[in-house]
Amino acid sequence: MARFTELETYDVRFPTSLDLDGSDAMNTDPDYSAAYLILRTDAGDGLEGHGFAFTIGRGNDVQTAAIEALRDHVVGLDLEATLGDLGGFWKSLVHDSQLRWLGPEKGVMHMAIGAVVNAVWDLAAKRAGVPVWKLLADMTPEQIVGLIDFRYLTDALTPDEALAILRKAEPGRAEREALLLERGYPAYTTTPGWLGYDDAKLVRLCHEAVAEGFTQIKLKVGADLDDDIRRMRLAREAVGPDIRIAIDANQRWDVPDAIRWIEALAPYDVWWVEEPTSPDDVLGHATIAKAIAPTRVATGEHVQNRVVFKQMLQAGALAVLQLDSARVAGVNENVAILLLAAKFGVPVCPHAGGVGLCELVQHLSMFDYLAVSGSVEDRVIEYVDHLHEHFLDPVVIRAGHYVAPVKPGFGAEMDVETLTDFRFPGGKIWNDLTKENQ
Ligand SMILES: [Mg+2]
Repeated sequence: MARFTELETYDVRFPTSLDLDGSDAMNTDPDYSAAYLILRTDAGDGLEGHGFAFTIGRGNDVQTAAIEALRDHVVGLDLEATLGDLGGFWKSLVHDSQLRWLGPEKGVMHMAIGAVVNAVWDLAAKRAGVPVWKLLADMTPEQIVGLIDFRYLTDALTPDEALAILRKAEPGRAEREALLLERGYPAYTTTPGWLGYDDAKLVRLCHEAVAEGFTQIKLKVGADLDDDIRRMRLAREAVGPDIRIAIDANQRWDVPDAIRWIEALAPYDVWWVEEPTSPDDVLGHATIAKAIAPTRVATGEHVQNRVVFKQMLQAGALAVLQLDSARVAGVNENVAILLLAAKFGVPVCPHAGGVGLCELVQHLSMFDYLAVSGSVEDRVIEYVDHLHEHFLDPVVIRAGHYVAPVKPGFGAEMDVETLTDFRFPGGKIWNDLTKENQ
């Protein structure tokens, strides 16, 4: 009988703040980071589960310690029994009677659970010899429903309703899978729009995005209205009328400021406005959504769990749902969120970028297309071309689409040298930077 034998963690940080990659109105100098873990077993197949929580620098040690706190919840567990009941495994972490106090179901501990759950999914897919999107899509509706904890959801989504959604998506699945493998899944790019880039770089990157086949770009906004109007005008001139431009305020505004700011940018045809205000403010988002319609409100990268997403949907607070692969408690909770979105008829356009988020989240959207919503209409996955070179199976973008990954696993595995060189503190990269600054 094989067991989990080891949970190893790494505090990995990339000095992205040096180039202002990833800069926005709230996160002015991020060092993209991963609180990373490797799960090992004594199965004798050499397979490991890799997962991580994404942070932006300081605090990544806290996030890593939270993952360490879950060691005894995993090490020693029967491997087959755990992989055979991933819904039960999820509940054993999320409902720990003492750790729960640190949330409940939010923040550092919940993200740590997400990292561990995703690492177990990585291992499950590797053992099955398929990518995670395929492992999920080939489950029966009953098995998929068995992954979900419906506590706090049944006023909006019952297990029977979830089953009905999944069964409705069964016809045509083989054709959709063939299309997915042929064309990939639509992407949009945030690369042109970081707030720290000057106008010339913005315009150049807008032209490049269109030339590369993207049909949507996104600009960071929210620091200065006059700057935003100028940048929005330049971007619109650069991409023309047919390319969608979304804007992202990264939680910068109060509700009245958001409405005023978005109205000022609306003449340049805003496709969606992302994170206009606090991610916890369900009613604030609903007020903004009503005021700025038909411009869409998008949010989700900081929505901490399925319960807040449920309320956002019930309140009509978002028109675009941006789940994140590493914010909530892993695959299981994101499957619940995909089903909630399908119930309310809201398209899911996941948050990605950061480090490794593109690699992970593509699997969830591809599963959604095959087995949940059955559609790619108005659905795009965020793409940012940062840090993919550190992964063994990096995402591939072709003609503005994510190419469906075919290697077994979740795509979460980083190069061994990256884990060593970028380890914080003490890795080669950080030692060199310290010396340069002395
Ligand atoms: Mg965003």
